[in-house]
Amino acid sequence: MKLKLALFFLLPFSTLVAQTDTRIYDIINAVSAQRIEKDIRTLADFGTRNTFSDTLSNTRGIGAARRFIKSEFDKISKDCKNCLEVFYQKDLVTPKDGNRIPKEAYVVNVVAIQKGTKYPNRYIIMSGDIDSRNSDTMDYTTDAPGANDNASGMAGTMEAARVLSKYQFENSIIYLGLSGEEQGLFGGKGFAEYAKAKGMEIIAVLNNDMIGNIEGVDGVIDNRTFRIFSEPTPVTETDKERNARRFYGGEVDGISRQLARYIHKTTQTYMPEMNPMMVYRLDRFGRGGHHRPFNDLGYAGVRIMEAHENYNRQHQNTRVENGIKYGDVIEGVNFEYAKKLTAVNAINLASLGWSPPSPKKVAIGGVVAPSTVLKWDTIDDKQIAGYKIYWRLTTSPQWENSRFVGDVSTFTLDGIVIDNYYFGVATVYKNGFESMVVFPSSVLRE
Ligand SMILES: [Zn+2]
Repeated sequence: MKLKLALFFLLPFSTLVAQTDTRIYDIINAVSAQRIEKDIRTLADFGTRNTFSDTLSNTRGIGAARRFIKSEFDKISKDCKNCLEVFYQKDLVTPKDGNRIPKEAYVVNVVAIQKGTKYPNRYIIMSGDIDSRNSDTMDYTTDAPGANDNASGMAGTMEAARVLSKYQFENSIIYLGLSGEEQGLFGGKGFAEYAKAKGMEIIAVLNNDMIGNIEGVDGVIDNRTFRIFSEPTPVTETDKERNARRFYGGEVDGISRQLARYIHKTTQTYMPEMNPMMVYRLDRFGRGGHHRPFNDLGYAGVRIMEAHENYNRQHQNTRVENGIKYGDVIEGVNFEYAKKLTAVNAINLASLGWSPPSPKKVAIGGVVAPSTVLKWDTIDDKQIAGYKIYWRLTTSPQWENSRFVGDVSTFTLDGIVIDNYYFGVATVYKNGFESMVVFPSSVLRE
């Protein structure tokens, strides 16, 4: 016994960090296309889930839909010894709040929180939408099955909860069903404000909106590619920060973009058969989604979405016109593809759930010098193995180079000239999981 202990302390002082975690493959394999299909069918069968539709019926309308979602989250929670805190969060909207609000109603979100074991106030969110619409968003009675838009994102969120509730994470995960999307992103706005008021530290929002269509309106069929939309820099930045970018760069390095890179990298590592496509834009051209209200309050958030949209199947009354079938019906959803995108979410929720906090106050120096210096505030957490510096050419979309530098608070990259690259720092846990990369926010002067 004594000898063993002595040997343990004599081990050379070096750090080896795992590159992959087999639990992540287990999570991918546990996601079920059949369960996703069942939930999408149930949601589509409520006829319409327009935010202003019937709330009393148990078979039709948004009330039935949200009660179904809540009951599923309750079931999942029961299966994991009440590991989820499930509740409704709601806000009243009236016609004064926008021109797509036909009458006063509560916008009701369904929330399921899986509390983190170490950092319960750090939250990662996966969201989908409860509501649907047809050609006229003010029409809350005619059928609007919304099978792909967005029962697919909602079903994926419920399935991720089923799979991930079997594990424990250090950070909290929220599985979120949002409403009021089609009338002006009201549900997201309501929950983002609720989170802000509660002082919740939201580190990432993975908003899923249409994750089941593989056949584009132009006939392209692709069940491997998906898009990650992210805005370049936060809208909440100050004039001073914006002005600094002119001299130091960082036009494509905001927090949401770092989240997009994180998702892209995790997907390429664990699901190499997929083709994640980062889109350097908040959302589709001139269009919106429920990550935006979170971005509006300064939180990192992206939209995860199919690569090829079919406009005949979204925001359309179900009908046949000139031989063309219109409507967001169940036939337009590919459940295997929705399963893959759900797995993309689940592995990123897990990776972030098992990752340490990002380094704070990252500063950079090296003006008119042959080397680049980085400095940051370290985090007091015994599970931290150290920090990793990332850099890339200014024209590269991805972090290309990295160097693990150990548990230090500053490091000089010899021979790497500051002018030619962008830099960032991530925290690395002993379990191998990394935080998102933090772009420097201040400059070190001699
Ligand atoms: Zn829509």
